[in-house]
Parts: sequence; C-alpha cells; structure tokens
Amino acid sequence: MTFQDLGLSADILATVAREGYEEPTPVQVSAIPLILAGHDVLAAAPTGTGKTAAFVLPILDNLRHHANAGYSPARHPVRVLILTPTRELAVQVADAVKVYGRGIPLRSAVVYGGTRIDPEIKLLWNGVEILVATPGRLLDHIGQRSVNLSQVEVLVLDEADRMLDMGFVPDVRKIAGHLPAVRQTLLFSATFSDDIRRLAGEFQTDPQTVEVAARNSVAENLTQVLYPVDDSRKADLLLHLIQRDSMEQVLVFTRSKIGASRLASYLDRRGVSTTAIHGDRTQTERTRALAAFKGRFVKVLVATDVASRGLDIDELPYVVNFELPHEPQDYIHRVGRTSRAGASGTAISLVSPSEVDKLRAVQRLLRKAIPCEVVEEFLPDPDGERVAPVAARRPMSRQGTGGYSRYSSPQRIAGPRPALAAAGR
Ligand code: AMP
Repeated sequence: MTFQDLGLSADILATVAREGYEEPTPVQVSAIPLILAGHDVLAAAPTGTGKTAAFVLPILDNLRHHANAGYSPARHPVRVLILTPTRELAVQVADAVKVYGRGIPLRSAVVYGGTRIDPEIKLLWNGVEILVATPGRLLDHIGQRSVNLSQVEVLVLDEADRMLDMGFVPDVRKIAGHLPAVRQTLLFSATFSDDIRRLAGEFQTDPQTVEVAARNSVAENLTQVLYPVDDSRKADLLLHLIQRDSMEQVLVFTRSKIGASRLASYLDRRGVSTTAIHGDRTQTERTRALAAFKGRFVKVLVATDVASRGLDIDELPYVVNFELPHEPQDYIHRVGRTSRAGASGTAISLVSPSEVDKLRAVQRLLRKAIPCEVVEEFLPDPDGERVAPVAARRPMSRQGTGGYSRYSSPQRIAGPRPALAAAGR
C-alpha cells in the first residue's frame, strides 16, 4: 500500500515525500480514506503509530479549498478544532500541522494553559483555520469571546482516553455546545474501553471504527525487561544500569512530582546529566527541559505521566519505569515513547516487592509476562531485608526470576507461558 493509493492530493503527497515517509502506517491506511470521505472515525491507535499524520493529512486535504491568502480575519474562521489533554501534546500536534501544511495557505495556532493569554487572543483575532487547544484554556477564550467556533467543520479529540482520565469530559461537553451539530468528529485513543465507546456515542454520529493493533498491545520491536529491586535501592540500580549499558538518552517515569525532582538531582549529583518535567514546573521550564533532552544536552529526562503525555522524541532508545504506574494502561502509554515508527527500543521496569500486584495487572493487560533480569547485588531480600549476603550464598542465573517467582505468575496470565518466567520457577 502506498500513500498514492489512499486518495490524497498531489500537494499532500509531496509533503509526505518531503518528510521521507515511504509507506503509510496501518492507522494511516485505515483512517485516511475514511476521513477524506467525511466519516466520523473512532480510532484506537497506540502512540508512535503515526496517528497524528493519520488525521492531520486528510484534514488538510479536505480543507484545501478554503485556503486563501486574504488579509481579513473573517476569511479565516476556525474550521478545525483539535483538542488534546496536555500542553505538550498540543504543541506537538500544532507542530505537525505546521510541518504537514507547509505550502498550503491555511493558518493554524495552538492555545494552552500555563502561559499568558494575551498573545493568544491577538493570534486568534487575526483568524486561524486550524486551532489546537487544551480544553481549559479554550474555555477561557470562549469566555473572553476571543474565539468563535460556529464554523467548525471538524472536531478532533486526540488521546481521548487521557482526557477521560484527567476529568476533561465536562469541559469537552461545554466546548461541543459551541460547535455546529453537523460536523465531522474524529476520536483517537491509545486503547478502547467502554468509557471511550460511551464518549464516542455522545460526540460522534455513526463512527467508523479503526483499530490498528490488538487491544492493549505494545510495539513488536519493543524489548521489555524488569529488574526486581527494593524501593530504597532503585536509584542506585538505575545509576548502575545507565553506566553499565552506557545509556545515552533515557526517559524515566516516576509516579510523583517530588519523586521526579529527587531522582533528577540524585542522578545529576552523580555525574549523569538529568532534568525533570512535572506539573509543578512552569511551561518555560518544561519546554527548556524537553529541548535539552531532545538536543541530547542531558542524558536523562525524569517525568511524571501527565507531564510526559505527547512527548515525541525521535528514536528514543530507553524508557524506564522507576515505579510502575497506578493504572496498567499507563504502562502502555509510557513504553510507547520508545520503539516508535518502526525503530527499536527497550522498556525497563524497576519493580519492588510491594509492586507485585501492579506488575500482575500490567502483565494481564499485555497478556504476557515481562522477562525478568537480575543484578545480583540489587536483588531484594525475600524476607524484606537487603539481599546481598544471601545472594552471595545462593547461585543465581543472570536471567530468569532468580528465585523471585512472585515477579512472574504465568499461570495467572492468559496467553503462552513465557519461557523466561517458566525457567525461573
Ligand atoms: P505519532 O504516532 O503521531 O506520535 O507519530 C510517531 C512518529 O512517526 C512521528 O515522529 C512521525 O513523524 C512518524 N511518522 C508518521 N507517519 C509516518 C510514516 N508513514 N512513515 C514513517 N514515519 C512516520
């Protein structure tokens, strides 16, 4: 299948070629013709599958007949509204709109909270056809009458599962009240759940469903591994792994903001350049931290789930779960930051004995056990104490659960019994 087969116009095909995309990804193959034909689309597409291009390219194509270089704002009403749960994702989607829309005289803008609203108001007054926004800030603009949404033809809810998690649905409902009832609505979510289907029922009309990967799956070229370790020794183990494997670009997830700051300064003090992004940092700090990480000026970026949403880092080799997430689905979002668009990547989880239930939940979702590796000096004590002297007495393999069979319980997981977990039993 080629991009030509999808029915895109010559302008957009030129853009795709300029970006170096050789063939469409599965979500693009399924979604682009449907969106071009004007259908509502409900798509389950994990991060890194090319989902942004899957909606931006056909939207631009459908909008081309409105393109004009006219000066008057009235000639540039908002025709496409893209809602995202976080500022980072909003910026990323807006960048994609700019890149894919180069050469087409359509205006686009992005608005999100945490920054001054005045410059955004000026931008909106000039008129934009494509608006990317986080829901809260868009409501502020609606309240201040700086934006008129009465001519919106397409509404996109990107990462709708996260909007649900973050409690944005009432805001989205309010926003939808300002849009024409007849419109095209596209809903993208990493995974499908009953809540997502209910949301689709509320905002969409007869949507066509696109599901590109098996439910709740991770990329095929992702290597997953877990290391058993006590909570108190996780930072030491992480430092050890970074040094042992000469890791150059590592995205580390922590559950709390304070945990993120603490870990960042721990690693930094030990000579591993590290920065952090989380909700307590200002937008400028977050943008700066991300730029430093993308530009490889720092090796490690420590992030919380919310702050990391939408991070798009080309060929990111490592993702580390310093703690497993509360919600097993967040594991999939996190590890989706690596092994994007066909590149390979490794997801490492540091799992303490207190997290075994969370691990089981993740493994049930993945329908497979995550292979376990051990670094002997960091093994947790089976009785809750440090393990070093015990480990010295008892020979353990480098791979396998090393006797810590509670980390893998293959009999509780549907699907094939994984060899590594079985070997460790
Ligand atoms: P997304 O899932 O939208 O976050 O996209 C992940 C990455 O895949 C982005 O860096 C895109 O530039 C890239 N990408 C999107 N479509 C293609 C394609 N057809 N071929 C290669 N890379 C792509």
